[in-house]
Amino acid sequence: TNETQPSASSAVELPGWTHVYSGKVRDLYVPTSSMTDDDSWTGDPLAASPEVLVVASDRVSAFDHVLEPGIPGKGELLTTLSLWWFDQLQVPNHLIADHGLDGASRIPAAVAGRAMLVRTLDMFPVECVVRGYLTGSGWKEYQASQTVCGIPLPAGLTNGDRLPEPIYTPAWKAPMGEHDENISYERTVELVGADVATELRALSLQIFADASAIAEAHGLILADTKFEFGADRETGVIRLGDEVLTSDSSRYWDGETYATAATPEARMASFDKQIVRDWLATNWDQQGTPPELPAEIVEQTAARYRELLGRLTAL
Ligand code: ATP
Ligand code: MG
Repeated sequence: TNETQPSASSAVELPGWTHVYSGKVRDLYVPTSSMTDDDSWTGDPLAASPEVLVVASDRVSAFDHVLEPGIPGKGELLTTLSLWWFDQLQVPNHLIADHGLDGASRIPAAVAGRAMLVRTLDMFPVECVVRGYLTGSGWKEYQASQTVCGIPLPAGLTNGDRLPEPIYTPAWKAPMGEHDENISYERTVELVGADVATELRALSLQIFADASAIAEAHGLILADTKFEFGADRETGVIRLGDEVLTSDSSRYWDGETYATAATPEARMASFDKQIVRDWLATNWDQQGTPPELPAEIVEQTAARYRELLGRLTAL
């Protein structure tokens, strides 16, 4: 199922760094000095390096496909948003200390602005999803069974409604290129053990509550989001990794529109990838290669991403 994987060649060459992995959106590098000279070594270069350079590209993915063309400036916007949120949140994260000062100097100029230097964590194979509102796949499931990821919900809710309280709906992080799969809380206990599972849930709900309050103060609704955590290799402490609260990993809506829109659907004026998902849902049957995004969808998405960053970081 590697057809959705971008080829390694879409990652730029960075002197002093070795490209080790490309996800749908980001390219990972380790210091070349951390690589062994032993050609017969078949270990994981990411696992062997204590630090990793995470470079966000302008690639955009939806329904697990990387689309063409990219969104100009997206990599930089996602990185700026993540750094801003890491700074707001009171939880241990994966950024290497002095990221902005000392760290920045180690970030190659070719990717400045869209790269983060982070500690390599032992990532947990769980995508920690929190939903404060009912929409997307949650709304679909609710219509069929009045549940979201198996969690029973009150009757009479409609698309875009606020949930009585935010719910934790983890997914199993499938290896490279495969589709992630919603799982029960009990399954996360099997995957990571009871202690870690409990901590991941508590951390996720706490961060979601804090971030929602911050978003609200900026006139935004945080409808749902996904976190990824990993264990610090030296101390075992759980750290928040990956990107955080970006427009790729989260649904953001405009608070004013939500409160005043005429219809339930119109409430969800989004600042995220939903624009791309919506266009794709009506212009593609999800068979074969997705069509090229039209220029106006690309520009609209870029503009909304910029607006989100502006709204959050203003004040
Ligand atoms: P896939 O891995 O299935 O391609 P993806 O499309 O989400 O998933 P990206 O988001 O493009 O991939 O790539 C980022 C990758 O880096 C993810 O696999 C993520 O788990 C991993 N990652 C993020 N932070 C760290 C960290 N501190 N240490 C190790 N790995 C990390
Ligand atoms: Mg990801």
